Amino acid sequence: MAEDNRTPLRVRFELRRRELRVVEHHLLTPHMLRLVLSGDLEGFQSLGFDDHVKLLFSDPQGGETPIMRDYTPRAFDVGKGRLTLDFALHEPAGPATQWALQAKIGDRLHIGGPRGSQVWPDVFDHYLLIGDETALPAIGRRLETAPAGQAITVLAMVENAAERQTWTTKADADIRWLYRAEADDVLSAIDALTLPEDILVWVAGEAQWARTVRTHLHDKGFNPKGIKAAGYWLKGEPGAHASFD
Ligand SMILES: Cc1cc2nc3c(=O)[nH]c(=O)nc-3n(C[C@H](O)[C@H](O)[C@H](O)COP(=O)(O)OP(=O)(O)OC[C@H]3O[C@@H](n4cnc5c(N)ncnc54)[C@H](O)[C@@H]3O)c2cc1C
Repeated sequence: MAEDNRTPLRVRFELRRRELRVVEHHLLTPHMLRLVLSGDLEGFQSLGFDDHVKLLFSDPQGGETPIMRDYTPRAFDVGKGRLTLDFALHEPAGPATQWALQAKIGDRLHIGGPRGSQVWPDVFDHYLLIGDETALPAIGRRLETAPAGQAITVLAMVENAAERQTWTTKADADIRWLYRAEADDVLSAIDALTLPEDILVWVAGEAQWARTVRTHLHDKGFNPKGIKAAGYWLKGEPGAHASFD
């Protein structure tokens, strides 16, 4: 698959700008809005559960460069020309969240990408997925597409129990919800797990939080090569993200 069977396969795609229209609107939880978009998806490819597309918004100041925000292709069907995106609704709402909150059936959205995919092999004994609300689209997609019997543990940090989602999976999944409102601590939740050595850990969420989780995993002796951590947003900074590995 790659140079050894523990490294991800990286694939590049032609970048294309697409115009889509909102065709479905579902509030999954009080703060998670699902929009299904329809349009020409010819050539659209997304092989990795944590791929992202760029949502393009025109600059209110009139600048030529669009404002861009990253979102996970939660599900897609190229034949039917359908793409599903899940928006974690947050305050202060930036351009992406504002657009999603106001989106009506028929509204237009321009997207670009994914520019590429990173595909992790299905050879690890165990997969640990740790994330906040912004990571739930990737985690949900991973669970829904995982092979039967694959051992997956999820630590999902959300505001409160109303933000829990239900996923269908063939994997042997242990899904643990953590609540910010109840001061649940992700590091203690990691310490409470019994895990095999051959593990791939994926972490995504607020950048400082994801960095703390990654440092904790390093300190506990997890193999750094088996940790993929990313900041999906940065408190106080619009449009920010960070990849640590
Ligand atoms: C690879 C990748 C995939 C992603 N996939 C998804 C996805 O599928 N669904 C999704 O909802 N998000 C996803 N995100 C996160 C999303 O891109 C950011 O949350 C983005 O900042 C939202 O844009 P915005 O215009 O709403 O807010 P911005 O203009 O970027 O930010 C406005 C303010 O809100 C704060 N903020 C941003 N996000 C949050 C948040 N989640 N909670 C609280 N405050 C926040 C910022 O710090 C800033 O102060 C992904 C990020 C990456 C890097």
